[in-house]
Amino acid sequence: MADIEKTLLDLDREELCSWVKEWGSPGYRADQILEWVYRKGVYEFEKMSNLPLRFREKLARDLPVTRSKVLDWVQSVDGTQKATVELADGEIIETVLIPEPDRQTLCVSTQVGCAVGCVFCASGLYGVRRNLSAGEILYQFLIAVERLAREGKDRLTNLVVMGIGEPLHNYSALTRSIGILNASWGGQFGARRMTVSTSGVVARIRQLAREPWSVGLAISLHAASEDLRQRLVPGRGIGTVADILEAGREYHLHKGRRVTVEYCLLDGVNDSPEEANQLASLVGGGSFKVNLIPHNPVEGLPYRPSRKHVAEQFRSVLDRRGVPVTLRRPRGEGVSAACGQLRVLSMEPGGHGS
Ligand code: SAH
Ligand code: SF4
Repeated sequence: MADIEKTLLDLDREELCSWVKEWGSPGYRADQILEWVYRKGVYEFEKMSNLPLRFREKLARDLPVTRSKVLDWVQSVDGTQKATVELADGEIIETVLIPEPDRQTLCVSTQVGCAVGCVFCASGLYGVRRNLSAGEILYQFLIAVERLAREGKDRLTNLVVMGIGEPLHNYSALTRSIGILNASWGGQFGARRMTVSTSGVVARIRQLAREPWSVGLAISLHAASEDLRQRLVPGRGIGTVADILEAGREYHLHKGRRVTVEYCLLDGVNDSPEEANQLASLVGGGSFKVNLIPHNPVEGLPYRPSRKHVAEQFRSVLDRRGVPVTLRRPRGEGVSAACGQLRVLSMEPGGHGS
């Protein structure tokens, strides 16, 4: 994996203070810089008018705010917007803004590709190329905030870590970016409005439960029976269904937040009433709610979304058994932007990422 040079967005307040002092400037300069970046959305040092000129020049040379850039934003008919972002080393990731009447949700990526390789997901098709840095994760947040402000839209209300990659395979950058997002000097974004989605890295779920902030947790289960789960989510280092749900229960206990079980309904694969019943037996008891996701077909993969009445039947089995359940409607189809399966477009021969 390439060694990505540090940018200002990778640093927390304390680290920035040290840099600033090392350069012979007073520590309060760090707060002035953070104010420009996180409060005013200004990334060019030449515009930071309350900083001395020489200091600004030095910053621009040695510690740019970011080395990422937005290549374009595209909008689907349902209003979902997808940003294609180019990273310093030319890798491409995507970030998706999902507007709804009562909230604005941002879906961020944490890796270039993914090592888990779920059989129905585009992100894992080519394995993982590298982790994103904390700054590269934060950048996605900042461009979304800027986009919404520029369009005069409502502010961002929710952030889901459900884009490209397995967030718990990039734990240190993930938790650093959550800390900065949440900080009063940083994003000022409430942890309770963030959700981390994982395919089931059990040890890291347990670690996340011990972190100081209460982010929401979503577990992408997709199967109730162990053999089916192993076929759909083949990645090594991912726990068994029983272990994952046990870790989910502990998370609920620690944080007092119900854990979401994500279940992508695949036609004829995991959508039988038997699977629904088995799932209901596993997730009953109040620690979980189930979110049924219609599959977004991926070119070259043989999976199709479940038929409407089958999905509805699956939902009603859970409902009858007292499990809180929602059936999500597809989003962002026009921009192939249901989170989690976007990267393939730029990985195709001749695309930016190849
Ligand atoms: N790697 C993490 C987070 C990113 S994927 C995880 O797996 O949880 C986010 C969600 O998108 C997961 O629930 C995943 O199963 C789902 N997903 C992936 N590909 C999809 C597709 N083609 N259609 C619908 N949902 C998909
Ligand atoms: Fe990776 Fe999540 Fe896609 Fe599975 S669903 S391959 S874990 S991004």
